[in-house]
Amino acid sequence: MKFYILTLFPDMVSFGLNTSILGRAAARGLLHIECVNIRDYTKDKHKKVDDYPYGGGAGMLMQAQPVYDAWRSVAERIGGRPRTVYLTPQGRTFDQGQAKELALEEDLVLLCGHYEGIDERVLEEIVTDYVSIGDYVLTGGELAAMVVADAVSRMVPGVLTNDASGSLESFEGSLLEYPQYSRPEEWMGKKVPPILLSGDHAKVDAWRREQAVIRTAERRPDLLEKAALSEAERALCAEVLRGG
Ligand code: SAM
Repeated sequence: MKFYILTLFPDMVSFGLNTSILGRAAARGLLHIECVNIRDYTKDKHKKVDDYPYGGGAGMLMQAQPVYDAWRSVAERIGGRPRTVYLTPQGRTFDQGQAKELALEEDLVLLCGHYEGIDERVLEEIVTDYVSIGDYVLTGGELAAMVVADAVSRMVPGVLTNDASGSLESFEGSLLEYPQYSRPEEWMGKKVPPILLSGDHAKVDAWRREQAVIRTAERRPDLLEKAALSEAERALCAEVLRGG
């Protein structure tokens, strides 16, 4: 999968995304993460990319021309109009379902705004999806693009070396993941739940499922509506929600 991240701060993004699991996946040829510096496309002789908003107001706005030309350079190389996500607090809130859906694309453009945002006219021209990473305002879209690129990359087959680890995690089946433990068996007087040492895989799976249900009821009851739960699990949730 190829990511093209349009930004005024390419170092910030490439440093963050070319390390650890994603860096290794890129080295193995599973991912291509390319930062396109919008400033390289300005026609202004002083390399300016922003200007005052018409109608007044605080701050500067990124101008349409450099953003459009940076995007077009990618579109021409790909040979079509790529799916183009603008990271914005005004977008749909990003979630695991959207990460999976975006991972089906071969090419994905992530557009990062800065300052007060981007001239609306170029957004109308190139953007296919408006995506927010939460109800707060960041100084720029770079961190948001990194969040989206990271979550989407993990859904690309082969990126996680243990493929099962992507499918058993939080939000699968609308449940949070169960608690996990590693060595030693006892730490600060706290013991690993004995069932995990039993070697009985069926019992371990049942325990983990129950813990996932309890944890979701405790921490994210809003998710339960979409979870496929048995009668007994629904009763367990009701008990947790009553504080039992
Ligand atoms: N004036 C804009 C508004 O009120 O909607 C906010 C601009 S913000 C200071 C600058 C840039 O940060 C935006 O263009 C966007 O790319 C990015 N950004 C800020 N908050 C974000 C969020 N919650 N999710 C995704 N991107 C965000």
